[in-house]
Amino acid sequence: HAMENKRMEQNCIFCKIAAGEMPGDFVYCDDHVFVIRDIAPLAPVHLLVIPIRHIETLTSLTPDDDPMVVAMLHAARHSALREGIAEGGYRLIINQGPNAHQEVPHMHMHVLGGVRLRGMGLK
Ligand code: AMP
Repeated sequence: HAMENKRMEQNCIFCKIAAGEMPGDFVYCDDHVFVIRDIAPLAPVHLLVIPIRHIETLTSLTPDDDPMVVAMLHAARHSALREGIAEGGYRLIINQGPNAHQEVPHMHMHVLGGVRLRGMGLK
């Protein structure tokens, strides 16, 4: 596929998937982000919204990234509708760093749905 990645990081799984050097089960892509199915799903629908450009965490974002940040939410919304989980509800998660068990150091947002998820302990 034609996703050109000008700031690819060596040995980054998600950069390799973006570049077509590793397989990914693509659900959506645009100029800023792509969406794939998680290889180890934790819910009937488990997607990953991933910026094409390599960014480690939210902490390293700058105002220049605003279009990409907005694109992540629209990609989640679009994918949820396509996967049929929008009406039932879904959860977006961005794990940041060691305390949150971020495994892949290329920022991404999980979209979890298709099942009644556990509460967040806040109600
Ligand atoms: P995190 O712990 O927030 O960094 O999440 C990383 C996610 O990436 C995990 O849910 C993994 O199952 C998923 N993952 C790792 N490698 C791949 C891959 N090659 N294709 C799709 N998902 C992957």
